[in-house]
Amino acid sequence: MQASLEMVKALLDPGKKVVVLTGAGVSAESGVPTFRGKDGLWKTYRAEDLARPDAFAARPELVWEFYNWRRELVAGCEPNAAHRSLAVMEQQIPNFLLITQNVDGLHARAGSRKLVEMHGSLWRVRCTACAHAREERAPLPPLPECPVCGHLLRPGVVWFGEPLIPGVLKLAVEQLGHADLFISVGTSNLVQPAASFHQLAKDHGAITVEINLEATPNTGLSDFALHGRAGDILPELIAGMTP
Ligand code: NAD
Ligand code: ZN
Repeated sequence: MQASLEMVKALLDPGKKVVVLTGAGVSAESGVPTFRGKDGLWKTYRAEDLARPDAFAARPELVWEFYNWRRELVAGCEPNAAHRSLAVMEQQIPNFLLITQNVDGLHARAGSRKLVEMHGSLWRVRCTACAHAREERAPLPPLPECPVCGHLLRPGVVWFGEPLIPGVLKLAVEQLGHADLFISVGTSNLVQPAASFHQLAKDHGAITVEINLEATPNTGLSDFALHGRAGDILPELIAGMTP
């Protein structure tokens, strides 16, 4: 593992194009629960069963209660060493992009700016009927209403089974097509289309790296698999780079 880490470190060259994909595991050390594994339960519900348009249609109050709980929980969390390391990496590598599946906003709070939040944000709300959308950090009522048309607001996140925000997939595919190095961090690689980014980058000739506590379906596609905590591995990778 140490040998692989040193080799990946050597690949982090300011002349290279680096694309990083992160998932819920990057925020686990900040105290934000992941969806899979033992943390993926809220009350008696699986988080995956609530983050769905059909769940919201059937039980909007329950889904909003879940999201209001998540908003409150994340408001009390801080970015960790993994988020901070990726912000440093961005400053040292001019041709850099961070694509996150996370909706917690912790990458931005750590200072990342070349950032695509492909699944939206917990801090965004939008109307289920009209075009109204806004950033909202204040606590919301159990069933928040649109100030423009009075219909129900929904979380501004992309739920399972929904299409991505327009333009996001095109941008990701374009960027992956030019990557020299692709690093996936803390994602189970089970949610599409993000799970296919690894293959896409590899097909275009990128060197691929996976950082995760355990093996994922994409480990076999990785030139380097670094297994351990993102908050330990990423600081080691950027050691020597100055912010
Ligand atoms: P996931 O919950 O499916 O998988 C998390 C992965 O992170 C696992 O493979 C696990 O082994 C790994 N992991 C856990 N702790 C880690 C650590 N300290 N270091 C390195 N790896 C670690 O997450 P996903 O793949 O991102 O898919 C879940 C979907 O749910 C995403 O689409 C996302 O939008 C959403 N989600 C977001 C958040 C968030 O914003 N923080 C949290 C949960 C789920
Ligand atoms: Zn409206």
